[in-house]
Amino acid sequence: MSSIFDPVKGFGVTFATMFKKVTTELYPEVKKPTAPRYHGRHVLNRHDDGLEKCVGCELCAWACPADAIYVEGANNEEGARYSPGERYGAVYQINYLRCIFCGLCIEACPTRALTMSNEYELADDNRRDLIFTKEQLLAPLRPGMERPPHAMRLGDDERAYYTRESHYRPVPPADPGEAYDQKAEFLFHAPQGSPDGAA
Ligand code: SF4
Ligand code: SF4
Repeated sequence: MSSIFDPVKGFGVTFATMFKKVTTELYPEVKKPTAPRYHGRHVLNRHDDGLEKCVGCELCAWACPADAIYVEGANNEEGARYSPGERYGAVYQINYLRCIFCGLCIEACPTRALTMSNEYELADDNRRDLIFTKEQLLAPLRPGMERPPHAMRLGDDERAYYTRESHYRPVPPADPGEAYDQKAEFLFHAPQGSPDGAA
């Protein structure tokens, strides 16, 4: 049953909040580090010789509950390959207007081609720029890598390529702002000033 004091009680909450310490984030000047396993922008990873890990199988697209991924596979040509497999991802797009960053796509990927970084600045003022292309998603070429297409440099056949010792060896980060965890195949773009940014 309402009483004449109910409106006063409501203002009590307002007044109590007025005297609490205000938490102000100084973003974007000061960027708060994310949790190490934060699900941010995707990365399409490469092998040590620069070939793409994506084999164009579309499993990530089928796993996506938001229908945010579009893949078109194509056949590799011997001597001028994009991936060490039979096929590669000729077209690859992620629509960040749809993506809910659930990570189901990276769980579905059989080659660990697709992983997620810590990058979270994905706002824009138009729809087109939020559909990321393969070129935008591909990991940068690191020292010793060669831009595809080219032959498999790390083994004559798929068995030799995938069982080579260096397949399991850590890859050094390309610059101090990135730390590369080979065990988890996880490319980590640390925000500026992050204590985790140290390689
Ligand atoms: S993170 Fe989730 S919603 Fe985003 S592309 Fe992957 S499966 Fe789809
Ligand atoms: S990213 Fe992985 S799951 Fe998606 S098409 Fe490429 S290999 Fe297949």
